[in-house]
Amino acid sequence: MYQRLLQDASFFALLLRIDEDLAAEVRAAGCPCGGPLHSARYRRKPRGGPASLGRDYDLRASFCCAVDGCRRRATPPSVRFLGRKVFFGLWVVLLPVLREGPKAQRLSRLEEHFCVSRRTLLRWRRWWRETFPAGRFWQSARGCWAQPVATEALPGSLLEAFAGVEGTAEQVVAVLKWLAPLSSSPWL
Ligand SMILES: [Zn+2]
Repeated sequence: MYQRLLQDASFFALLLRIDEDLAAEVRAAGCPCGGPLHSARYRRKPRGGPASLGRDYDLRASFCCAVDGCRRRATPPSVRFLGRKVFFGLWVVLLPVLREGPKAQRLSRLEEHFCVSRRTLLRWRRWWRETFPAGRFWQSARGCWAQPVATEALPGSLLEAFAGVEGTAEQVVAVLKWLAPLSSSPWL
């Protein structure tokens, strides 16, 4: 069920629409100095996802304050990109779950099917288990869960934390939205 989403063009289109809304909110709020924000988007080269994604899909929204002397940059949260990860966030969240979930798949099969190297898959695992739990984002959020989320079972435990959300796609969107601030200005 998660596997289907990894290359689902309509799901990727939904994530783009969510990102556009997140960016619009940041722009409408303006710069903390009171200045207007101008678009300063840039191109990333994300890997993963369906082959049919247009070139515009690679564009990362970002803004720059128009006021001389401020020029503060504001990068909105994103459900497509996860921090500075090269692959789409969806892949970084779901591939480790396919590897370790109830119907665990072998590394070699994931490598072959998704063209992600074993090294990358193992690096993500380490990132989820060591880097992410040690970071400020997790440290500031961990006390907010109604039930504790096991760091040693990330990112699967994160999906479980949103198990109350009905529908697989909706559940995954909830996780990506929760992670979205990681890709925004204060956390980058
Ligand atoms: Zn400003």
